[in-house]
Amino acid sequence: MSSLTYFAYLIAAVCFIMALRGLSSPVSARRGNQYGMAGMAIGILTTFTLPQVHGYLYILLGIAVGGGIGWVIAKRIAMTAMPQLVAAFHSLVGLAAVLVAMAALWSPENFGIGASGEIHFGSLVEMSLGVIIGAITFTGSIVAFAKLQGLVSGSPVRFKSQHLINAALGAGAIALMLVFCATEAKFIFMLMILISLALGVLLIIPIGGADMPVVVSMLNSYSGWAAVGIGFTLGNPLLIIAGALIGSSGAILSYIMCKAMNRSIINVIFGGFGSAPEAAGGPAAKDDRPVKTGAAEDAAFLMGNADSVIIVPGYGMAVAQAQHAVRELAEALEHKGITVRYAIHPVAGRMPGHMNVLLAEANVPYEAVVELEEINNDFATTDVVYVIGANDVTNPAAKNDPKSPIYGMPILNVGDARNVIFNKRSMAAGYAGIQNELFYQDNTMMLFGDAKVATENLVKALKAL
Ligand code: NDP
Repeated sequence: MSSLTYFAYLIAAVCFIMALRGLSSPVSARRGNQYGMAGMAIGILTTFTLPQVHGYLYILLGIAVGGGIGWVIAKRIAMTAMPQLVAAFHSLVGLAAVLVAMAALWSPENFGIGASGEIHFGSLVEMSLGVIIGAITFTGSIVAFAKLQGLVSGSPVRFKSQHLINAALGAGAIALMLVFCATEAKFIFMLMILISLALGVLLIIPIGGADMPVVVSMLNSYSGWAAVGIGFTLGNPLLIIAGALIGSSGAILSYIMCKAMNRSIINVIFGGFGSAPEAAGGPAAKDDRPVKTGAAEDAAFLMGNADSVIIVPGYGMAVAQAQHAVRELAEALEHKGITVRYAIHPVAGRMPGHMNVLLAEANVPYEAVVELEEINNDFATTDVVYVIGANDVTNPAAKNDPKSPIYGMPILNVGDARNVIFNKRSMAAGYAGIQNELFYQDNTMMLFGDAKVATENLVKALKAL
């Protein structure tokens, strides 16, 4: 590899780092994406110039077909379906790692890692690690996709001695890796792949639907390490760097999400080990207590007489695509001299940053969007909180009920406000499948209806005041 190639790869690597930095805030996310695209373009063009790269037509055809499919999917995908899309894409990275390692084993000369039967020891270790992580990522991501897409039940699948079997399979994969590195036997290599594929399924099935986005982020990390494996096999430093960036950033994101949801990261890595009783998707216990309900006019009256309003968006806002109506509501309130801010819970919605992205899309000013730690003490001095399609992230059970599956998760203290208006369609539970006591509180008014329609009616009623 020439020094010019290394230099171009270095620039691409810096672009990737700038991309990650940019993606850390909605303000700079677009620029971050552009850095990522530039880094990828530099990486691909530079790789084209490598002497060992042949068959340009096939490569260009592959880019056109893959890029075309990616473009169509990206245009069509709903924001709420993003976690399963990401899971599907990760499965492809895992599969690529397995296929590249197989190709390298069958024709090592083309990869410059020695001759058949005499592959360098280091390369055998790299291939084995890449193939184990890749195969786990492949099947694990497919299971995550199927659960998130609703193709299979989101409930955890548990059976006797599950962890023992997983540990035995893990130990088996490592033992096979040692034998493979010593013998270079293709049969052992294929067995290693089969065991890792099975392990991928078994690690993910015991994890419940509510934890699945954390798992997707963890699989993202695995896919990065699988890419590192491919990078070593292909002797490509940029792939190693890009893979390591994905691997470590995915791991950090998983850790942050686990903390925000009060889940154990060990639990996620080792497939539901020691997990809390899972309630995701299950129905909340039936409760016949009366709740205070109101119409758009009642909510408008409360808001119109307030000095300060905090809007708490959740998954329902995303489903209803109500973010533009929410911005109109804020504008109508501000027009009346009322202070409006948005409170964002780190796991509101179905993926990290879900609410921030939607609000940014609706041109909500960034400075009005405030994170949980910064705004939580302000609810007590706020006149009206408008909770739109959020549920679990406000549920006091996280503080009061040690048996609750969300116990320990930080929540937005919306119940402390003078008035709470809850918009949702029914009394149904949120993602964790548990009842929310706030609905029955004296200062709460339920505003039933689809988030978009209800908020648009609210804006109309507010303007008519
Ligand atoms: P929730 O799932 O708790 O609640 C959303 C509420 O929105 C539901 O109760 C539903 O009630 C209502 N809703 C659904 N559709 C509409 C609609 N069209 N109009 C109005 N309301 C609607 O969402 P939260 O955002 O409060 O909490 C997120 C949950 O997801 C947490 O449990 C979190 O742990 C979990 N999670 C989040 C991740 C993340 O990264 N963000 C990752 C993994 C899990 P109804 O049916 O009555 O309308």
